[in-house]
Amino acid sequence: QPGLGKNRRFTPPDKSNEGPWNPGKSIVNSMGGSAQKGGKENEYNFLKVDENGIPDERYQTLDPRMVEIIESEILESRHRIVWNDIAGLESAKKTINELITLPLKRPDIFKGIRAPPKGVLLFGPPGTGKTMIGKAIASETNFTFFNISASALTSKWVGEGEKLVKTLFKLSVIHQPSVIFIDEIDSLLCSRSDNENEAGRKIKTEFMVHLGGAGTDDDDKVLIIGATNRPFELDDAIRRRLEKRLYIPLPCMEGRRQFIERIIETETENMKVDINTQRIEEIATSTKGYSGADLKSLFKESAMIPIRELMSNHSIEDVSADALRPVVAEDILNSMKFTPPSVNQDDLSRYLDWNKKFGSYQ
Ligand code: ADP
Repeated sequence: QPGLGKNRRFTPPDKSNEGPWNPGKSIVNSMGGSAQKGGKENEYNFLKVDENGIPDERYQTLDPRMVEIIESEILESRHRIVWNDIAGLESAKKTINELITLPLKRPDIFKGIRAPPKGVLLFGPPGTGKTMIGKAIASETNFTFFNISASALTSKWVGEGEKLVKTLFKLSVIHQPSVIFIDEIDSLLCSRSDNENEAGRKIKTEFMVHLGGAGTDDDDKVLIIGATNRPFELDDAIRRRLEKRLYIPLPCMEGRRQFIERIIETETENMKVDINTQRIEEIATSTKGYSGADLKSLFKESAMIPIRELMSNHSIEDVSADALRPVVAEDILNSMKFTPPSVNQDDLSRYLDWNKKFGSYQ
């Protein structure tokens, strides 16, 4: 029997033994098409048939193929991100904690006027941790996390986007409490109409209906988080429905320092690094304007320098890992010339302007 629906039953993810988040295995990447999903086919599935195959009636009206796509590509259970994994952004984290995390944890206290918003927009330059924040909210609250990239909806599942969105919202109610994280929400819900085709319009309408609260009750615990690097392109109606709009800025000096320390601590296994606290401070000062993602690229580039040096007169097969010299602060500072920050001053002013006009927190 082909239908998954009747025989599927939701088993909450066992998050107790999970290791740190591994971006290489992220569903977002697999959906964006730029990176491969790692591991076995069913690695992210947590809609399991229990051993007795107890039917769940709620699936009866859902398209099994859509459920399958969502289970394998949109539902995430692997990675646990805690607030501490996110460097800097102290004020954003505090706001989110008060506004979303605490109310989700204690709905009995945060009722009525204290109830959390149903829709939140995280906006700001690319690579600043918006996706990480979405994941942290889900894992701090133990909510089911649906992670969808809007561009995948229009490119990867051409012609099925509308059905997928419909199923996604239904599943989010079945598996509540849940978070639906929509990356690149601008590409789906932009105000430009010139490049809109029929399929795009239908997806947009479907989203609007759900963002407006149709299909969910007031008591349903489904939080929609949209993330965008291009808030200026959002449709007015969407903007209004994502009632809290929070600016996620580039990291400040302290954020950069924390992030650099973290890269050295967690991402330089099996390689030598010789950068002391004072030099970390110096790098943090020099990299004003770099996003978290930019800093990571900078370190990646710098980590190649000792290898390139040795390879100038050895072939890689003959190079012993021990012979590689440590990565030093100069490598990072020199690499800045070749890996500049990705966000320029004009972009930053646009974000600040938009925040002034539409942001919920100044
Ligand atoms: P965004 O969604 O804002 O474009 P992401 O959350 O996907 O950015 O971050 C991209 C990568 O950059 C992450 O995988 C992480 O390694 C790094 N990063 C960016 N900002 C931070 C941060 N504040 N703390 C820790 N890592 C960060």
